[in-house]
Amino acid sequence: MTAVQHVTVLGTGVLGSQIAYQTAFSGLEVVAYDLDETALAAARQRFEKLAATYVEEGVTGAADGGAQAALARVSYSADLAAAVANADLVIEAVPESIEIKRDTYEKLAAVAPERTIFATNSSTLLPSAIADATGRPDRFLALHFANRIWAHNTAEIMGTPATDPAVYATVVEFAETIGMVPIEIKKEQPGYVLNSLLVPFLSAAGQLLVDGIAEPEAIDATWRIGTGAPMGPFQIYDIVGLTTAYNISKMGGPKQQEFAALIKERYIDQGKLGVATGEGFYRYGA
Ligand code: NAD
Repeated sequence: MTAVQHVTVLGTGVLGSQIAYQTAFSGLEVVAYDLDETALAAARQRFEKLAATYVEEGVTGAADGGAQAALARVSYSADLAAAVANADLVIEAVPESIEIKRDTYEKLAAVAPERTIFATNSSTLLPSAIADATGRPDRFLALHFANRIWAHNTAEIMGTPATDPAVYATVVEFAETIGMVPIEIKKEQPGYVLNSLLVPFLSAAGQLLVDGIAEPEAIDATWRIGTGAPMGPFQIYDIVGLTTAYNISKMGGPKQQEFAALIKERYIDQGKLGVATGEGFYRYGA
């Protein structure tokens, strides 16, 4: 039995709701915390939708009662002290802003039990940039999930030099308990493992396109056939969404900025944002 029985998730947006639901689905009690009743009402809808998606996609690994019973293991709170009073582990998924994160941890540190472990799901901030605000750097680390957690079930686990190895081990075990494949990251690394690989890969594909070397279909076919991978880089761009691709590319060097301009002109300005809008580099649906 895992040392973690009671989990609180801070922030019930895209990722927070998935983390909370997956945890409940796996049989643990979860408190979903958000700022106010309006946000919690939206959270309830997200959880209902997730339950339906899990059934539709035949997600395995449910505890007793399946996807619907998982909903009853989630409770809701907009009171931080009450939300964490019994927590073994708090997973933070509030917006990706250093100010919001640090402010959240300062408030959390004041009310959470001493034993509680804190984990951030931040995609781009290193845990050491937040550790001092937690008041317990030895019981703090990053636990990073991927969007569509039930299908893309990696959990990248990354401590700081101050993280207690026993705490790290507890979080690895927790990740396994909720059906994740724990990815143990030995040192702090911006982008963890996945984005350290994916971002340069996608950027290289963008460069081939702006340099006029080959079209997206040819680049994707090369990658799929040559490596056996199910998708090429432009198919991945469509899933990530072209707005995100644009925002990341425009911060890069001259070639990436050229790619950003191309995406904007040919796609974003035409309302083609990727799979979400039915068209990006490719067309989807009917
Ligand atoms: P989101 O905007 O969908 O959700 C954020 C939630 O936090 C909202 O429900 C909001 O009401 C709530 N919130 C705002 N301020 C808060 C506060 N002070 N205290 C508690 N809750 C607060 O964001 P998201 O996409 O779920 O991202 C959350 C975190 O997860 C970020 O750190 C992000 O880097 C990370 N992440 C996101 C993805 C992704 O694909 N979206 C993937 C991996 C990791």
